Amino acid sequence: MGKLQLILLGAPGAGKGTQAGLLSQQLGLVHISSGDLLREAQSKGTELGNVAKSYMEKGLLVPDEIIIRLILEHITVPQCRGGFILDGFPRTLEQAKALDETGEGQNLVIDRVIYINISVQELLRRLSGRWLCQRCQTPYHMVASPPKVAGRCDRCGGELYQRPDDSVEAVQKRLEVYFAQTTPLIEYYQQGGKLMEVNGEQDISQVNEEIMALLG
Ligand code: AMP
Repeated sequence: MGKLQLILLGAPGAGKGTQAGLLSQQLGLVHISSGDLLREAQSKGTELGNVAKSYMEKGLLVPDEIIIRLILEHITVPQCRGGFILDGFPRTLEQAKALDETGEGQNLVIDRVIYINISVQELLRRLSGRWLCQRCQTPYHMVASPPKVAGRCDRCGGELYQRPDDSVEAVQKRLEVYFAQTTPLIEYYQQGGKLMEVNGEQDISQVNEEIMALLG
């Protein structure tokens, strides 16, 4: 398979981070998670992080110009020349158009958009039990995929934590924002002939196999 430039699209909790992690290893792509970049900026206490925090806590989207600049900075680095996978970006039509506009001139044209489809009921179930590794961001679910040792990451031994925006109120807001602002991207990429839909309610490995088969 040649160099790939992919987007993972789907609601919060659909499994974008998990699948992006697997695909980046399998296909040798750089995994770029907009949420992880923002959380990193927050923990470093940068100006960007401080601005982003107030939006993230409430489950709202960070303003387009901020996130567009941040992502473009990251996908234009030499390491991404072998291909990349975007997880959590774009989330608005404005962001998708900015990516397309920059992409044309700079060899950043997106090949495929993988849309992970999943019901609201399943999203609520997943987000309410979600824990993440502080160090490597591997996600766990206390019922569906618990760690071997309570509170510790299987992969790196890091401490597990719950995201503040996984609270019931913030989750509701994030889903509302997703349906209002991000779902129009499904049609946008469908019209562009780039959309591949997978059933996100299957096991992690089944979703991964379905994506790999579709990528051919
Ligand atoms: P995530 O980890 O992808 O669920 O993102 C966590 C939070 O970061 C979101 O609820 C937003 O507040 C912010 N965020 C992440 N990606 C974007 C984006 N593409 N546009 C705007 N805000 C974003």
